[in-house]
Amino acid sequence: MKDCIFCKIIAGEIPSRKIYEDDLVYAFMDIGPINYGHTLVIPKEHHTSSATIPEATAGRMFRVGARIGVALKRALDADAFNLHLADGTCAGQVVMHAHLHVVPRGADDNFHWNWRQLKYESDAAADETAEKIRKALKLETQD
Ligand code: AMP
Ligand code: ZN
Repeated sequence: MKDCIFCKIIAGEIPSRKIYEDDLVYAFMDIGPINYGHTLVIPKEHHTSSATIPEATAGRMFRVGARIGVALKRALDADAFNLHLADGTCAGQVVMHAHLHVVPRGADDNFHWNWRQLKYESDAAADETAEKIRKALKLETQD
C-alpha cells in the first residue's frame, strides 16, 4: 500500500535488517527494541488489522514468531520471549500495517508489562460479558 512504511520495507524501498522471509511473511529487526534482538513479523499483504489477515498467513506469522523466539534464546542467550500484537491505536498500534512483536526476555532485563487484574463485580456480570462476546463473535473461514 502506498505510504505504508512496512509495505515499503517489504518492497526494499526502505532498508531493514531482514531476519526471515517466505511467500507469506517478512521478519526484520525493530529499530527501537525493548531488548536487543526484538523482531517484527509482518504479513506481506497489507492489512491494518490482524482480524482481516487470512488464516494461513496469520498462522504462519505466529509459527514464524515462535521460531524466531526460540532463535533469540539460542543466539542471544535470552531466557524467554514475548509475542505481542497491538491492534488499534488505543492498544498501542503506531504503524498501521499489522505486525507481531517478538521480544527476547531476560530474568534481569528490568522490563515489566503494565498488567493489571480487575475483578468482575459479580458472577452475573462476568456471565453477561461472556454472553455479549459470544453473540458478537463471528468466525468466518477465510481461506
Ligand atoms: P506498534 O507500536 O506495535 O505499532 O509498533 C511499531 C514498531 O515498529 C515499533 O516498535 C517501532 O520501533 C518499529 N518501527 C517503526 N519504523 C521502523 C522501521 N523503519 N524499521 C524497523 N522497525 C520500525
Ligand atoms: Zn503496509
